[in-house]
Amino acid sequence: EMTKADSVCTPESMDSEDVLFMLYTSGSTGKPKGIIHTQAGYLLYAALTHKYVFDYQQGDVFGCVADIGWITGHSYVVYGPLCNGATSVLFESTPVYPDPGRYWEVVQRLKINQFYGAPTAIRLLLNYGEEWVKKYDRSSLKVLGSVGEPINKEAWQWFYQVVGEGRCTLVDTWWQTETGGICIAPRPSEEKAEIVPAMAMRPFFGIVPVLMDENGEVIEGNDVSGALCIAQPWPGMARTIHGDHQRFIDAYFKAYPGYYFTGDGAYRSQQGYYQITGRMDDIINISGHRLGTAEIEDAMADHPEVPETAVVGYPHKIKGEGAFAFVVLKEQTAHADHIKEELKTIVASKIAKYAVPDHILVVKRLPKTRSGKIMRRLLRKVVTEQSSNMGDVTTLDDPSVVKEILDAFQKYKEKSSS
Ligand code: AMP
Repeated sequence: EMTKADSVCTPESMDSEDVLFMLYTSGSTGKPKGIIHTQAGYLLYAALTHKYVFDYQQGDVFGCVADIGWITGHSYVVYGPLCNGATSVLFESTPVYPDPGRYWEVVQRLKINQFYGAPTAIRLLLNYGEEWVKKYDRSSLKVLGSVGEPINKEAWQWFYQVVGEGRCTLVDTWWQTETGGICIAPRPSEEKAEIVPAMAMRPFFGIVPVLMDENGEVIEGNDVSGALCIAQPWPGMARTIHGDHQRFIDAYFKAYPGYYFTGDGAYRSQQGYYQITGRMDDIINISGHRLGTAEIEDAMADHPEVPETAVVGYPHKIKGEGAFAFVVLKEQTAHADHIKEELKTIVASKIAKYAVPDHILVVKRLPKTRSGKIMRRLLRKVVTEQSSNMGDVTTLDDPSVVKEILDAFQKYKEKSSS
């Protein structure tokens, strides 16, 4: 194939607003959205954030270990670094193959200056101990970055102290497929400005974050929480959803007219720094992979014996969040274990292996409101064992369902631990 190809390829001139690429991502309904980014603004934003958030200097070797098929790989393996003339590392292994020292062996061998990775990998590696890190020379490292999900304090400290020997700048970077590049991160900032562990902290140039209350009003002041919106456009923002511009408007600009709604909640600290608290919709984040619970439900609905399912997220020590599925079977007497295995196979083949629920619990029925909506909030309370505080259940069609599900959950737990 290489011999058939010309060694010179004439670049094509593009319009600044021509489509550059499309990436599918999860929404809170079952159907994934094809997010469209265009040429000039996206490239500018990827390049600027790459340069200023990571303090990239000419000659540096930049190592973003994300898969290039995801937005992080697009922006910080390909477009940002290459636009800045950087050397960009293509990492194709896993953090534990052939052993848990893999990242740091690569850092030593390629003399990586900036290392950008995901909290889920850090949480996994910290279980293997410090020897795997200390075995390798990491003196080339200047900046460490984290992306994809909230980083807990323990993982942040380990990344900072063990990997970075307490001398590297560690940036927790918040952004989304839709934003094209990093929107909130501790750097850039004034030189040597403080970095608070496990916080994204400061908006990037041109990003105006605002917090909204339940009535759609902007929340002023500090030490407050709300829905995270962005108040003015920025070059890297997505332009549309493939084939459905109305859905783009509905998903991002309807909830708070005049503002871009991120879908995330955030806290603004006493000092005015931002901390992302997590999704406000039915989206879960498994090992940095964003998934709508509805997508998993849709996949499982393909099983002829399973008329109804409800999936909720729960905190998972390594993956950040895991999926817990409640399923109703057509025939109560059916071979539940066999069906559970089939459900797992369906999810793995229709979505991906990481989307397969860790737990599948068969229940007689799901908790529903009188208008027929599944109350996932209650299921979340059950799996996180906060059932003493179920909140308002008066809109439930039949409140006795709560006890029924709690009993089933209790039995399931006893069976799993025995
Ligand atoms: P994706 O579009 O797949 O990159 O997922 C974006 C979502 O991941 C955001 O809406 C957040 O919920 C989550 N996320 C990304 N980075 C961070 C971060 N640094 N802290 C907390 N959550 C994050």
